[in-house]
Amino acid sequence: MKCFSCKSDTMEQSSSTYTAQAANCIIIIKNVPCMKCRQCGDVIYNTKILKKIEEIIGRIESMASEVAIVDYQKSA
Ligand SMILES: [Zn+2]
Repeated sequence: MKCFSCKSDTMEQSSSTYTAQAANCIIIIKNVPCMKCRQCGDVIYNTKILKKIEEIIGRIESMASEVAIVDYQKSA
């Protein structure tokens, strides 16, 4: 798999912290599986993961205030 940013072939399985700005709060999701570039540090999430992230955000948005921190592994 090639990196979109630097085009080098150095993407590897990793995990990352995803930050989303919702209507009335900031949602931080830890331990999100992703592909990370060893060269430039660029992070890519696959569509399945992104769908799950949307679900988590949708679920939390209504009850969170200001900042919410969740663990992807526990919310998935
Ligand atoms: Zn890269």
